[in-house]
Amino acid sequence: MALSHRHNASQRSKHVSHQRHRQSLSVRVNACSSSAISTAQIIDGKKIAEEIRKEIAAEVQKLKAEHGMTPGLAVVLVGERKDSQTYVASKKKGCAEVGFESFGTDLPETATEEMVLKVVQEYNSNPNVHGILVQLPLPKHINERRILDAVSIEKDVDGFHPTNIGCLGMRGREPLFVPCTPMGCIELLERSKILIAGKRAVVVGRSNIVGLPASMLLQNRDATVTVVHSRTPNGAEICREADIVIAACGQAEMVTGDWIKHGAVVIDVGINAVNDPSTKKGYRLVGDVKFSEAAAKASYITPVPGGVGPMTIAMLLNNTLRGAKHALASKIPK
Ligand code: NAP
Repeated sequence: MALSHRHNASQRSKHVSHQRHRQSLSVRVNACSSSAISTAQIIDGKKIAEEIRKEIAAEVQKLKAEHGMTPGLAVVLVGERKDSQTYVASKKKGCAEVGFESFGTDLPETATEEMVLKVVQEYNSNPNVHGILVQLPLPKHINERRILDAVSIEKDVDGFHPTNIGCLGMRGREPLFVPCTPMGCIELLERSKILIAGKRAVVVGRSNIVGLPASMLLQNRDATVTVVHSRTPNGAEICREADIVIAACGQAEMVTGDWIKHGAVVIDVGINAVNDPSTKKGYRLVGDVKFSEAAAKASYITPVPGGVGPMTIAMLLNNTLRGAKHALASKIPK
């Protein structure tokens, strides 16, 4: 698979208008609001992620057959947080499904910073490891920044290293890795044949891991981008001008229908648990977008769950494959 971080001319030429492309990767929803009935297309992140995983698995087979190489991902987990353990387990499962070798080190909550650093350094020098992921958050007594800075830039599959982010922001530079969640948003748009170039895009949120890189990725694809954050006084008004909205503010259902222009494309990154006594667990997951209202206006929209979420692991696997190919290319004499 050739998932590129930049948008090239051939990709651009493949893009056609929304109306001509009603792809099988999206399905229609009838969303009712007090004033409108929408036929927004639901962008099916689960299905698109599955398609990407199949492409990765095919490339892994090729790498094994032609070069005897198996991509390897190492996950470092410190502590016993249940949510982190679940994330790590699904990352390992994802690795197995595409034929990667998976490495893992689980350290106790009491592990020292030096112990974590030692593990990272060992993976840095292990030639069978092409990607290193330190599961966040780390216990409070550990300096997260020091640990993340220790990950080799060539194995930084989370894409959080300042050099990777810097290259993403600079014209004419190609980062080795792009943060997985924002890259997943772009893949959802591109695989749904949604035109980005020349469009007005608004990103709600500016975090280092989602909002900031999402805005850079959109700009790299020739969108005109505005970033709305907690100090923006008129977020709704700005957002209403957007053809494409990426919502990543961590505020349950904050982006309501009146933030959305008719026909806009809405990508909801948010994952928020809200109390719901009618469910077995007592809560349900919602996004940063009020789905029913936004779907009444949007042309395309991602659901929560099942939209951006499944793309994050798919992009992590893609980054690991990229790391393996990079390692292979640096072994081949020029
Ligand atoms: P974060 O670090 O908390 O950042 C939130 C951003 O939203 C900040 O830039 C903040 O502005 C902005 N914001 C907060 N309140 C706002 C408001 N009232 N109006 C406008 N902007 C506001 O969150 P994150 O890590 O980027 O995550 C964002 C969401 O995505 C969360 O719901 C998270 O659970 C979800 N997420 C999902 C995935 C996935 O795989 N699907 C992965 C990562 C995150 P300031 O900068 O001014 O504080």
